[in-house]
Amino acid sequence: MVAICVAQADHGINAAGGFPAVFFLCRESCLLLRHIFIIFLGATAFFWSLLINKKKILLCRTLKNYVEISGKVVFKQYWQADERGKLKVKHIVQFSGGAASAYVAWLVVQEFCKENTILLFHDTKAEHPDAERFRKQVSEFIGVPITEVSDGRDLWEVIKDNHCLPSSFIPFCTRVLKQEPAEAFYKEFDEQGIEYMLYNGLGPEEWPRVQRSIVRGEVAGRTVRCLLAERQISNVEVKKIIRDEWKICLPEPYMHLKHNNCIPCFKAGKGHFYKVWQNYPLEFAKAVQMEELIGHTVFKYKSLAELAKHWEQQDINQPLDFGDEGLPCVCSA
Ligand code: SF4
Repeated sequence: MVAICVAQADHGINAAGGFPAVFFLCRESCLLLRHIFIIFLGATAFFWSLLINKKKILLCRTLKNYVEISGKVVFKQYWQADERGKLKVKHIVQFSGGAASAYVAWLVVQEFCKENTILLFHDTKAEHPDAERFRKQVSEFIGVPITEVSDGRDLWEVIKDNHCLPSSFIPFCTRVLKQEPAEAFYKEFDEQGIEYMLYNGLGPEEWPRVQRSIVRGEVAGRTVRCLLAERQISNVEVKKIIRDEWKICLPEPYMHLKHNNCIPCFKAGKGHFYKVWQNYPLEFAKAVQMEELIGHTVFKYKSLAELAKHWEQQDINQPLDFGDEGLPCVCSA
């Protein structure tokens, strides 16, 4: 009888009813059974308290990690920047002129004020003219002037000087026209002992690139932040805010292309060149000339001239694939 009651007591929720019954029976039984019951009760209480403590420990650890993670990624950096901002920390936005970096620039100004924000721009002289209009309007809207640090040559001159066509495998155009001027700018800050953080426009859709940019920054001893990825703000949201709230027209290339980059961008694929061929024939013709001059082709088996011939034979009524940049109108005004 005692054994049955003990077994009942061992089943969690039945324990409340089982223990008094066992205790009642034990009063009537021998001293040995009573001692066994007391030991059992003590052991149960001991293990139960251990379990609760373990849960508490786990909870504490979780909270501690949360604070540490938040402290490292968000609060600590903000706090440091706010405190030192009056002294020397600068917040450098890699301001390409695309919608994403424009919105990041605005976010940075909200956090660290205009005086501590730098909009760093490198001119490749191969972008659509409307990109310039967009950059200026954004700069005026957020109240920070553009800091231009450029190589001075345009994309086509860099190609000629290197006797080579850039590609995703050898993107020397990015190195010459953007990375090297940027490095020269950062070097001046390093030499003067000015602390800075870098911000780019990479968003949640580009997680591998976000990781790479942060790691590269770490390797170079710099803090790189991708605010759109950190805050999970999508490219679609950013464009909507700029058009509908800021009332600034997005740059014209967004009507046809995914990025407001050089036209054409040699790191991009055939789909991009197809859209350039359709929408920017003069720029496409420049790329064809460059293939002839250098003696190599952008794509492996066909020259751009051959691709153009092939595309000409396609059905012109074939719907264009605008993807996520297929905006009905670039201007909200
Ligand atoms: S946008 Fe494209 S073509 Fe222009 S510099 Fe960058 S990789 Fe080169």
